[in-house]
Amino acid sequence: MGSAFGWYGPLIDLSTTSSRIGDFVQLLVFVHRSFPVQCKSWKRGRDLTRTDIEVGDDTMPFFVVSLWQKQMGSMVSAGDVVLLQNLKIAKYGNAVEARTVQWSSLLCLVHPYQSLLSKAVEELVTGCRVGTTTKDKLRRVIKWVQQSRSTICNIKLQSNQTQKIEHLPRNWTVLEEEKPRDCFSLMEVSQLTTSCKAIVCASIGEIVPLHTSRTLGDTKKEKVFISRRVCRTEDNELVDDLLCTGCQLCGSPLDSKFEQNAVPLICWKTSSRLHSICSIYRPFLLYVWDESDYMPILVKNRAAEILFGNIKAGKVYSAYKEQMNNQNLGPRNDKDAIGRLAIDPRLSGEGLPSTSTLEVGKSLQLQEKHLPDKLNYYRVWLILLKMLLKQGKNGPLKLEIIVDPSLDIENGKFELVSATMPCFGTK
Ligand SMILES: [Zn+2]
Repeated sequence: MGSAFGWYGPLIDLSTTSSRIGDFVQLLVFVHRSFPVQCKSWKRGRDLTRTDIEVGDDTMPFFVVSLWQKQMGSMVSAGDVVLLQNLKIAKYGNAVEARTVQWSSLLCLVHPYQSLLSKAVEELVTGCRVGTTTKDKLRRVIKWVQQSRSTICNIKLQSNQTQKIEHLPRNWTVLEEEKPRDCFSLMEVSQLTTSCKAIVCASIGEIVPLHTSRTLGDTKKEKVFISRRVCRTEDNELVDDLLCTGCQLCGSPLDSKFEQNAVPLICWKTSSRLHSICSIYRPFLLYVWDESDYMPILVKNRAAEILFGNIKAGKVYSAYKEQMNNQNLGPRNDKDAIGRLAIDPRLSGEGLPSTSTLEVGKSLQLQEKHLPDKLNYYRVWLILLKMLLKQGKNGPLKLEIIVDPSLDIENGKFELVSATMPCFGTK
């Protein structure tokens, strides 16, 4: 059964469509998927539904055909091999596609999809009442589908077909985002025996840096406990103990000064396997507690950023360095002010009426009265750190934790993913 209008143009391979723009052709193709597209008719302003089908053949795995006749859209399903007659090849931008016209038709040659996989090629071809050239093309398309089915069978079936074909062969595994378990207490988290994500509410008790020279043997001096140190006005070692050079993606410290452990050669957090080096928060143990238990959680760079109000370690470190430099330079004089003017783009831009040294000095004084000094991220970070470590005075945080019972504590048996303020609703 052919088209009532006869054949306009030859039966072609999909690979030759780009040389036939504007021509009428016949296509014999396998249907990967079909999906309805809602669009407006530009002539009458009506809503139209066309069906786009993604097809392929032995010469080109993917090609799009738009079916503008409603009944034709309902005739086709994913997994079919069809003969599309009297299609027009068109080019939109860089994309070549085929579309139906009024005298186009569709003939389904193989349906359902299982027969395509279970039956022999000749068995399928013999049953089709089509000409020799068409049979020859059909043979090639069926062979192509059978040979490459593992890569092309991600067919989106219509709902009434999904139950029939549940076990299509797949050559990949679907990576589903794991839903975290809601745990009522730290005790419950500590008793988890399988690796998973858990959400639990707990209060922060202490921060203990990992792998620094000071943490070894300094227990007596209580230097390992950050809460004791943040309240002191001058503790310049704090930055060294909590920040270092490392990979911002996996959080591995890469400064050999303190490290006992070898630095991992490749980065598991990126497909390029290359570490992204900058200032990071050194991994630390965050001790959290609730009524049931007390637990150390490993915190790496990204989670630490979340904990410290999304302030990146680089900002803290550069502000700290700047503050150290300023302190070493001593009190500022006019010469310094002009020097600062030269390097600070905020001060050297518009708003300066004159370029003479005297005038510059005056306008600088004016600006200093009106503008706050550049935000010192080191100071902000210190304040946040102090606030987080006000033991017993803060409410609990909602913590998302990756649990891997096969690891030890320092390697991430419990690792922090994120921390948020819990919202205790009225529901
Ligand atoms: Zn890395």
